Formats: sequence, structure tokens, C-alpha cells
Amino acid sequence: MQEKGNISIHTENIFPIIKKFLYSDNEIFLRELVSNAVDAVQKIKRLAALGQYSGSIGEPLVEVAFDKEKKTITISDNGLGMTAEEIKKYINQIAFSGAEEFVEKFKDAKDANELIGKFGLGFYSAFMVSDQVEIQTLSYQDGAQPARWICDGSTEFEITEGTRTQRGTDIILHINPDSEEFLDQYRLQGILEKYCKFLPIPVRFGTKEEYVEDGVDENDKPKRKEIAVDNIINETTPIWTKTPTELKDEDYLAFYRELYPMSEDPLFWIHLNVDYPFNLTGVLYFPKVKPDFEMQRNKIKLFSRQVFITDEVKDIVPEFLMLLHGVIDSPDIPLNVSRSFLQADNNVKKINSYITRKVADKLAELFKNDRKSYEEKWPDIGLFVKYGMISEDKFYEKAKDFALLTNTKKEYFTIPEYREKVQDLQTDKDGQVVYIYTNDPAKQDSFIQSANRKGYDVLLMNSPIDNHFIHNLESKLEKTSLKRVDADVADKLISKEEKIESVLSESESKDIKEIFEKAIHNPHMKVEIEGLSQDELPVTVTMDEFMRRMKDMSAMGGGMSFYGAMPDNYKVAINGNHKLVTKILKAGKEQQTQLAKQAYDLAMLSQGMLTGADLTEFVNRSIELI
Ligand code: ADP
Ligand code: MG
Repeated sequence: MQEKGNISIHTENIFPIIKKFLYSDNEIFLRELVSNAVDAVQKIKRLAALGQYSGSIGEPLVEVAFDKEKKTITISDNGLGMTAEEIKKYINQIAFSGAEEFVEKFKDAKDANELIGKFGLGFYSAFMVSDQVEIQTLSYQDGAQPARWICDGSTEFEITEGTRTQRGTDIILHINPDSEEFLDQYRLQGILEKYCKFLPIPVRFGTKEEYVEDGVDENDKPKRKEIAVDNIINETTPIWTKTPTELKDEDYLAFYRELYPMSEDPLFWIHLNVDYPFNLTGVLYFPKVKPDFEMQRNKIKLFSRQVFITDEVKDIVPEFLMLLHGVIDSPDIPLNVSRSFLQADNNVKKINSYITRKVADKLAELFKNDRKSYEEKWPDIGLFVKYGMISEDKFYEKAKDFALLTNTKKEYFTIPEYREKVQDLQTDKDGQVVYIYTNDPAKQDSFIQSANRKGYDVLLMNSPIDNHFIHNLESKLEKTSLKRVDADVADKLISKEEKIESVLSESESKDIKEIFEKAIHNPHMKVEIEGLSQDELPVTVTMDEFMRRMKDMSAMGGGMSFYGAMPDNYKVAINGNHKLVTKILKAGKEQQTQLAKQAYDLAMLSQGMLTGADLTEFVNRSIELI
């Protein structure tokens, strides 16, 4: 039997083109060929299970070996094999819808995956690294003859009788000169560990190890002896293929440590398992968030039927969950197509919302079952949750019952609990509930104390995401606004009906205002005399909430640069009811300015705003006063 023919592509020399185009990730040839071998073994197992094959299956096995001298890599399996007819059918007739379309499309293909997926080029990826590819195969079918197929990467092939005596297939790659890097134990081992570590059929990588023996050889070099070492490189039933009831915490932790050897143990995990309307399994871990959390992205590994595909899961996992670690396995994710297609894909959308829902359910469960330990974890998970609430309305709806707010006394409240706590004291005259927060408790300490004296609670909003979270809360909660504790003097943070009258007469107020304006001598510091409680500070420097937010936004590159260009304008609130103010009024002209300066500098100092020459002047003046 001998047959020559043409592979059914009409365009000549397509393989050299494939080779060139796909050079960058040509290592995936091994992934493709090993997974074909795994498929073949699984198929024979299935045939046997269905009673369509009655021979013995033997130990299912895929083997990868290489020969440096002969420059070959061989992938063997004891799967179902192929007859010559099947080779013609499955290998020769490449699943091209047409060669022209292929040539047209591959020009834009970004990577090998895209091409392989679109055109069913799995097997042909072998030509990315080979001058010649040979198949030796024997089908499981009764009376099948061994067959050999060989092709040199042109569109011509040859089929002859083969030499295989056992059921199964060898794919023999004659590695081309440009790809000799692959004829290396460590290189191959590395590729296998990356893509094949969790394949469902044992994969053996036959390597040779050198031993140094006693004595020297004819070239006076230490004598060496090579011995063959066989090892199975994969774990055939990784935890995500099992059911949660089979697994203990220790199993999940062990798997995590295996995947991320350098990491701290995760906080908790979620076992994903769904088969309708799409098929997906996996385990997602919540890591401990590190300050450099940007570095922790891309830690989720994506598999398709246990074959590693990528760790870029950007479109499959919701953006806010990108900090999670773990694995996702789904044959339903179209792995081989372009990003834009992926985003529009219906399964991908469903998977995305499934993962969001599972994460929300898990958090709700943790919160419900053990609130104390949930609160302890909050500093680590709060970032995810807030990010999720901001970016996905659906997640907000679920998370609003287990998201926590923290105050400066380190107490935790859910959003409804917090409203309950503050609404009596912190509702303004228009019925708005005002939540007061600090983003820097050390710097804003005097404001916090003033607010607390009035019985107001102060929330801690000092994580990198809180600026956005504040906006989010305001947009979701009815009749609620948030104000930073230094947005105004405590008496005015929440405007109430009752008014504390200033003890100063109109002309006294005018005088005091002039004294301070002269002492401060800065047009961006707007002096206002206010009738505040006697125990309030004599001078307080504040920036309006709205103005500050606009400036913050433009500093972060968003919003209106108009505000960014504006100088910082502050209000200097003088407490007309404070004893010191009465004292200043009574003092002599020169002393008036000095006292006003001193009181103003103290206010600036308490907020960390007094620096440079102003600070030096303040210190000198204070020494003089002593
Ligand atoms: P796919 O795996 O997506 O079907 P491939 O190009 O990788 O596409 O393989 C084409 C076909 O060749 C397979 O579907 C299978 O029928 C056959 N084939 C490839 N490798 C083997 C093998 N080791 N044993 C048996 N059949 C194989
Ligand atoms: Mg394949």
C-alpha cells in the first residue's frame, strides 16, 4: 500500500507561512499534540465503556520523548489509533472553510491560539517546529492495518503501511534547525509543566540523566553514564475535578500552596461547579491583599478540559475579581478567538455573572455564619467588595447586606445598621442623613474630636478605593450625603434649625474679621466669623466638600481640570463665642495681630498645614511669647 496525495488546501506552501507567523508562541505545538493524544486515550476508554471495544485497554498512557541526535520529538499514546482512511479524513482534510479565507484571515491573526481555533489547526501546529511530521498508528478496529503518514510541510503527503504493532499512535516530529531549542530536557519539561500538569491521562516524560562515574574517558574527561528516568509529570485528578464533599480544607490549602508556593495562605475559597447552561468547574481563592496588589493580578489560570490555556482571564472573570487566585476550567469558553469576540460571547457573559453570583453568595454565607471572623477578614476583602459594588450594580444589590462600614472606633456596621445608628443625630434640617468620614484620622484628629463631642460618628474611609466608594454610596442611598470631617466646623457639618448666636456685636465681628484678615494676609483664606459652641476651637481651617472633591478628581486625572488649576481656597472659621476672641478684641493693636496670627497658626499646625517659613516664624514667635 502506498498512496500520495495533496492535502486539501488549494494554496501552495501554506505551512511555511504558518511557521513564520506563529513563531512567537510556537511552544503550544506540544500542548496540541499531547492533548490530541489524551483525547485518543479517552476515546478508547469511552468506546470500551460503551461496549464498542472489547479488547484490553491497558494502562492509559501518553509519552513524550526526544532524541537529540536524531533531532526528533515523539508523542505516543495507547489511544484508539487511526486507520489510513481516518488519517485521510481527519488529518488531510483540514477543517478549512476555504484556503482563500484562511490566507485572508491569518494576516490579522494575533496569536497562534486564534488561528488554531478558527481553522482546526491543532495537529498542524506541529509544522511550526518541524521539517517533517510522521504518524505511525494502529487503529483499535478489528483487522486494522498499521498506517504511516509523512508530510514535509508542503501540501504533499504520503501514506504507506506502518510499523506499529500495538494499538495507538506515535507522532514523530523531525525538528527544524530553527527550533532545536526544543530538543532540550528542561525546555520540554517546562512546557509540559505549564500546559500539561493537570491532564486527565498520565503523561510520562522520558528523560535521560547523566551520572559521573569513577575514572576518565579516552579524552581524559570524567566518565559519564546516561540512564533513562521516567516520570509522570501530571496530576490526573486535580481538586477542581472533584466534588466539594470529597475535599477537606487541607486539600484546598495544599493545592493553593502548590500553585503559589511563595504566597501566604488564602482567606477562603469558592468551589465552582456548574454544568448548565454552560460547563464550568474551578476553585477561586481570596488571597490576603498585599499593598502592591497590582502585582497580584493575572493569578487565575484558565483551563479547557484540564489543558492549561492562559492566565489572562480578563474577559471571563469580572474586573473586580481579578485579584482572586485559582483555576477555572471550561470547555465552553471559546479560547481560540479574538478578545472582541470573547467580550460579545454569550457564554462568557453568563460565566462572568455566575462567578459574580457565587462570590456574593460565599461572602453572604461567611457573614451570616460567623460575623466576628468575617469582620476580622474585612480589611482584606473590603477592597474586593467595594470595587465590586462600584463596578457592578448586580453585585451591589447583593453586597449591600454584607458590606461593612468601619468607624474611627473600629466598630463595624452593615450599611442598614449604620443608618439606624446615625440617623437620629445626623439628619439635617432638609431630612438628609449626613455620614461624616475621615480619610486621614491622624491629620484630622481635632476635627474628629469635635465631631465626636457633638455625638457624631466618624467613618474611616482611608482605603485607595474609598473616594469612589463614597460617590457610589451617595448615588445608591436615598437622602444621604457624605462629608469629610474637615469640610466645615463641627457645628456646621450638619445644618440644623437651631442656631447658636454669636456673642459678638456686629461691629465687634467686623473688627475681629479685619484683625484676622490682616494677620493671615492671604486672599485664599476666607475669614468668617461664626457663632459656635464655646468648647469649639477658636480658629478652624476647612475646605468645602464639593470643592475638595472636584480638586481630588482632577488630581486623579478625571473630571474637570478647571478645578485642578484653581488654587486651594479655604475657609478660616473664627469662633466668635470663644474666650480667646474676646481677649483679642480687648488687646492692644500690636498684640491683636500677634494673637490672631498665633491662633491661626495653631489651627494650621493641628492639621499638618503649617510648613516651611511659616512654621519657622511660628516657632520663633512662640519662643518670644514664652
Ligand atoms: P481537534 O483535536 O480539534 O479535533 P486536531 O487538528 O488537533 O483537531 O486533530 C484532528 C483530528 O486528528 C482529531 O480530531 C483526531 O480525529 C485525529 N487525531 C489527531 N491526533 C490523534 C491521535 N494521537 N490519535 C488518534 N487520532 C488523532
Ligand atoms: Mg487537537
